[in-house]
Amino acid sequence: MNLQPFFEKSARDHSHLCPRQILGVRLGLAGMKALGFDSPPDNKQMFIITETDGCFVDGLSAATNCTVGHRTLRVEDYGKVAAVFVDVETSRAFRVAPTLDIRQRACVDIEEDSFRYQAQMQAYQTMADEEMFSVIEVRLLASIESIISRPGLRVNCDVCGEEIMNEREIRRSSVILCRACAGTPYYRSARSMITSSSILLDGKPCCRNQP
Ligand SMILES: [Zn+2]
Ligand SMILES: [Zn+2]
Repeated sequence: MNLQPFFEKSARDHSHLCPRQILGVRLGLAGMKALGFDSPPDNKQMFIITETDGCFVDGLSAATNCTVGHRTLRVEDYGKVAAVFVDVETSRAFRVAPTLDIRQRACVDIEEDSFRYQAQMQAYQTMADEEMFSVIEVRLLASIESIISRPGLRVNCDVCGEEIMNEREIRRSSVILCRACAGTPYYRSARSMITSSSILLDGKPCCRNQP
């Protein structure tokens, strides 16, 4: 199989080609193969959950056509080069990860550190799938339907009022909450971190505006 078009596609988006992109292309092709696809299926039939972002994902997308923009790729950032490939129609899923000794295999007989990068660039293009990857069948802990959700579903948070798409709301009895208001935010307002006295000096407390 000629991998060059995938490498060119990946490098185009990325301005350079590096071992992680090559790994992404190869791992993407291995994942498709595990699901029985010779080429990217139509109609968003394949969904990928990647366990890291960065160069690796550009290679993965180049080989599979799955992207965050098309909602066929999800990043679960475990900081690991690995991905789960899901057949949306059957829910079959395979996790593909590099073999633990892939770097050593790629750099056999390379003692000089400065040559390792180039050795990996070469080796990742030619090594056999079996040498490069472990492939295991897995079951997702949430249904693929709930992970993807359906287009057009939207509600508003009862606390902040912002719109929530794709059934990502949390319902507590009859109250609809976004994740931030439900108590699991990943940020905090910079203003709320200022002490209450400095808020009085900086802001316009309502009592001053009252007659
Ligand atoms: Zn790179
Ligand atoms: Zn909210």
